[in-house]
Amino acid sequence: MKVAAGECCGCGLCVAVCPQKCILMLPDAEGFPVPQVDESCCVQCQRCRKLCPVNREPAEAAACTPADPHCFYAISADAGMVAAASSGGIFPQLASRVLAGGGAVVGAAFDENWDVRITLIEDAALLVKLMQAKYVQAETPPELFRDAAQILKAGRQLLYTGTPCQIAAFRRFLGPGEWPGLLCAEVICHSVASPAVWRSYVRHTAGLAGSPVQAAAFRDKVSGWHQFSLTLDCGGRKYQQTHRESPYMRLFLRELISRKSCAACGFKQGSSGADMSLGDFWKLRKIAPAWNNDTGASMVIVHTEKGRAALAQCEFAAWQEFPMDVVKISNRAFYQSTPPHALRDDYFAAFAENGMQWFDPGRFFQKQSRFARLRERFFRWLAGGKKSRRA
Ligand SMILES: Cc1cc2nc3c(=O)[nH]c(=O)nc-3n(C[C@H](O)[C@H](O)[C@H](O)COP(=O)(O)OP(=O)(O)OC[C@H]3O[C@@H](n4cnc5c(N)ncnc54)[C@H](O)[C@@H]3O)c2cc1C
Repeated sequence: MKVAAGECCGCGLCVAVCPQKCILMLPDAEGFPVPQVDESCCVQCQRCRKLCPVNREPAEAAACTPADPHCFYAISADAGMVAAASSGGIFPQLASRVLAGGGAVVGAAFDENWDVRITLIEDAALLVKLMQAKYVQAETPPELFRDAAQILKAGRQLLYTGTPCQIAAFRRFLGPGEWPGLLCAEVICHSVASPAVWRSYVRHTAGLAGSPVQAAAFRDKVSGWHQFSLTLDCGGRKYQQTHRESPYMRLFLRELISRKSCAACGFKQGSSGADMSLGDFWKLRKIAPAWNNDTGASMVIVHTEKGRAALAQCEFAAWQEFPMDVVKISNRAFYQSTPPHALRDDYFAAFAENGMQWFDPGRFFQKQSRFARLRERFFRWLAGGKKSRRA
């Protein structure tokens, strides 16, 4: 494997394509999954290195970047879907249609330990498990690549969703060529958070409640879409905090617990090979006040004809095309990687020192001095953009 530790995106493709089965994904010192190769059985076939999406040639990335993307504001016609989803409920709209037609859907679900796994479903009753953003890195089990490809080989429809790097990994697993049944929808992604920090937070909350976590929602709209909450339900006791209050969400949104590779993501601007990107239509107050609401609105960026056709089949409560320029105002994460917080490495050092146990991250949020704030703003300006704070 020729990928530096800080560059690996943790997609797990190398494990899936190793003919010797000598690669395992194991947590690194910050709790992110990274490949570990058992050199004693490696036959140097180089499949892992050649297929790794991080090793793509710039020309390949350029060829995958959509030439003429279109940006849409969209809200699902099903108010229940909108309430249960993160944004405007476009993912469940797309997924329901595929499942109703006998197809399958891939997306991220919690497992029984509240870890997040990329999961394949064929039953509409399970769709709710894939709904809502889980702000923690999801692991892709190696067999999922094969199972998902099998669906396509059988001539069935497949909706494959995930972060841009996960979409790029699946595309590379399939190899070149067209798959008429495949629709890929990436989430607009600013970064993924450490599974170890999330796990420690779940354990900590269950400890406070004296009862295990029974339900978790990162995008609970109880206080509205703009003020979304992280809610953990522990045996009827609800731990509910808006993203501004929740220490976990503050760590995540300020890029203190993000994967290192996310700071130089190679899959921006739809270059993952996705047919569309799904995100939140933030900053509507500024862009189009008449379209603003607090129940949730999606930003859908369509990259291909297939993506456009799939979106056209959805039923909307509201939709409108906007010029691509608004993406820069609403959602810079589509275009740019988000730089890590200046104290990111300090946070992980303190977390490791604490035995990978949750601790009050208060000191990492202490107000910086005026000079430090100005310096940070200057460097951000130099880097070419304001730091995105929202997921
Ligand atoms: C880690 C992460 C970061 C994000 N960052 C941004 C951002 O910066 N700006 C923005 O506008 N939108 C971001 N989003 C996307 C946004 O939160 C919604 O997921 C998206 O708008 C789809 O919402 P929906 O209402 O259509 O349906 P939902 O039902 O909310 O759709 C959820 C979708 O997200 C996928 N998903 C959930 N968790 C994960 C995960 N851990 N890994 C991979 N896929 C996952 C599901 O498979 C499904 O496709 C992010 C999502 C994730 C998971």
